[in-house]
Amino acid sequence: MTRTATPLACPACGAAGLEPFHTQHGVPTNSCLLVDTEDEARRFPTGSLRLGFCPRCGFITNSSFDPTKAEYSGRYEETQAFSPRFREFARGLAADWVERHRLTGGTVVEIGCGKGEFLVMMAEAGIGRGIGVDPGVHPERIDPRWDGTLDWIAGRFDAGFGPIEGDAVVCRHTLEHIVPVGDFVREVRAAIGDRLDTAVLFELPDTTRVLDDMAFWDVYYEHCSYFTAGSLARLFASCGFEVDDVRLAYDDQYLLLEARPVAGSGGGWSQDDVAATSAGVDRFAAGYAGITREWTARVNAAGGTTVIWGGGSKGVAFLNAIDAPIAAAVDVNPHKQGTFIAGTGHPVIAPAELVTVDPALVVAMNPIYLEEIAADLRRHGLSPELVAV
Ligand SMILES: [Zn+2]
Repeated sequence: MTRTATPLACPACGAAGLEPFHTQHGVPTNSCLLVDTEDEARRFPTGSLRLGFCPRCGFITNSSFDPTKAEYSGRYEETQAFSPRFREFARGLAADWVERHRLTGGTVVEIGCGKGEFLVMMAEAGIGRGIGVDPGVHPERIDPRWDGTLDWIAGRFDAGFGPIEGDAVVCRHTLEHIVPVGDFVREVRAAIGDRLDTAVLFELPDTTRVLDDMAFWDVYYEHCSYFTAGSLARLFASCGFEVDDVRLAYDDQYLLLEARPVAGSGGGWSQDDVAATSAGVDRFAAGYAGITREWTARVNAAGGTTVIWGGGSKGVAFLNAIDAPIAAAVDVNPHKQGTFIAGTGHPVIAPAELVTVDPALVVAMNPIYLEEIAADLRRHGLSPELVAV
């Protein structure tokens, strides 16, 4: 399959010539909003994915993304903190960052703090002060014992935000939701100013794995920006940062970047992965139809009721991409239970409700949770076939 260059500019490096390689229409514009009725879920606004690859820097963007369609309000329920496995990972990361970047007693600014769980973990690990910025923050869910240590700003970080006066800037699972990634990273750099000892710590999904695993459930509307280790490092180096490290974490699903602002031009850690990403993009484009058909066939052959485990973005993307009889999405987050999957209208149920459903097949939306899902199923006296995407 050949890709054709368009005049579209890459939001990361600015070069013209984005090459579209994957198009999907009718994709729900939000997969984390809590939808109260099946009818509302089926009538949910949709948009298009038109993924384009930048042959210069290796960045991938959805050039059809419309930021006005993305709602990050208090109805946005993205937290994974109800999973013990995810909590353990985040707590370990918070402790590691506090220790290695000497943040004990220091101040941390978290851009895109979500519901604030990670900043709480950093406070538990010893930071003296934390400022969390997010349009969907729920300060009332935070333990009042952190009043005075942690402050919350319900809004977006942008050019008008003002100086970041912290010992570290943390930004987890946010950059992939932003289209003008170059502008954003430059704004972070500008807000830090001449505080060159500020540690800059980013976490986001790794796209190499998405392409290699044909992980179509990891491609959805809110994620308009897709990085590999190399393209992430190139962006930060071009925006006035010295990149100390980019590494994989969480069973190689996430990228962790550590960087420092510099006065001159940036640089540091790099990886020449543009050709490999280009090959991965071709494989994804060529294999998409086949893998969605395979999953449809798998569910049709289950010989009983099928449910998916995970009512978050991956579940929404999976259910919207395949055409098979699936009864429900199970989710351990009590805020999600009783709501409906955007686009398809599947109910989101609690694990305990599976006793009534009695599934023959459970498809876990993330292999990393297989152990805790298996334990949950055993606890409810159920023994369906359990597989992961
Ligand atoms: Zn580029």
